[in-house]
Amino acid sequence: MKILVVNAGSSSIKYQLLDPDDSGPLAKGTLEKIGQPGSFLTHTVRGEKHRLERDVLDHSAGIEWVLQVLADPELGVIRDVREIDAVGHRMVHGGEKFYKPTLVTPEVMDVLVECIPLAPLHNPHNIKGIEACRRILPDTPQVVVFDTAFHATIPKHAYLYALPYDLYEKHRFRRYGFHGTSHYYVSREVAKHMGREDDPDFRVITCHLGNGGSITAVKGGKSIDTSMGYTPVEGLIMGTRCGDVDPYLFIQIMEIYDLDTRQVSNLMNKFSGLLGISGVSNDMRTLEELMDTDERARLAIEMFCYRVLKYVGAYTAALGGLDALVFTGGIGTNSPLVRRIVCSNLGYLGLKLDEEANERGVGNKTLRISAPDSKVEVWAYLTNEELVIAQQAAEVVASL
Ligand code: ADP
Repeated sequence: MKILVVNAGSSSIKYQLLDPDDSGPLAKGTLEKIGQPGSFLTHTVRGEKHRLERDVLDHSAGIEWVLQVLADPELGVIRDVREIDAVGHRMVHGGEKFYKPTLVTPEVMDVLVECIPLAPLHNPHNIKGIEACRRILPDTPQVVVFDTAFHATIPKHAYLYALPYDLYEKHRFRRYGFHGTSHYYVSREVAKHMGREDDPDFRVITCHLGNGGSITAVKGGKSIDTSMGYTPVEGLIMGTRCGDVDPYLFIQIMEIYDLDTRQVSNLMNKFSGLLGISGVSNDMRTLEELMDTDERARLAIEMFCYRVLKYVGAYTAALGGLDALVFTGGIGTNSPLVRRIVCSNLGYLGLKLDEEANERGVGNKTLRISAPDSKVEVWAYLTNEELVIAQQAAEVVASL
């Protein structure tokens, strides 16, 4: 089977063509600067990266170009786009309407549009990608896979906010959580490695630490709590998002600086987090390079790690103990420093890091970084959200 996985953002489209039974993509790439001058496509095939340039007006033109490249005699991996069995679309927010990978029909499209207010920064662009593929590949099944779906098992006492209950009933204001496909993938893979895939008592905490970050408590393969909430702003300190803050502060800030909602949204989403604290960068690599000479870069790293540590403690309590701790995402897989700082404070769980393995574990796919006598296994694990989307899309198509 060949599944095209599409992740459409505001001005970009990421894609991979995959066989769901094989973890490596046949081809992958990113189209950037859609609707802007200088659009370009970075396409990787057979281990080689190609940069192609062409002005792309909208998502539809973008998808058309991607399909052309995939079927190109030199750069492509298929002869005809009809070889694509299904398209799997990443969709950020499915609200309480979608808890499963879903085949796109006209009725489903209407409900997806109803979910736009839940994630106004992401969902409209995801929908543009789906619309473009439906237009260009009308006979190919389109499947949507939701970032929120894995968190459908979080119990009510963990997903509700302590606001007047009517607000939940009327507007479904609650924790939804994100990065679901990543938390699902790494927790499932580590359970497999540890031979505990079918164990309902297996307790794992997954830390997805990228530019955005979230942490999830998984018991017996099910998410029971996660740090992102109604939106991705809640929880960990991220590249440019603040994570947990006393919500009353925003009222104060809005009053003092006479900010409107868009401005305060930018403040919490774009100018906070590692960037806000350090004043220099949202990029962990840069902060690590500066930490010996720049006090605020060091402070940003310390605060970042402390927040992760607090959540690990809270989720260990929620799980009633811990069997495995997994780090993934750009920082989780690549930063021995962050893993070391977090783990050095978890000795009380009987967790012992293998320092040498931890230092080696840069970008490693499946690396156990705990010492053999550690009571909690620690893993650095490269996530593969595209593979999960391809597998789930293939399952939906197989069930038709
Ligand atoms: P996104 O959430 O945008 O998908 P990624 O998962 O790619 O982001 O993670 C990006 C983050 O990973 C950046 O903060 C980057 O600095 C960090 N990162 C990548 N490589 C390293 C490294 N070798 N050491 C430390 N941090 C790294």
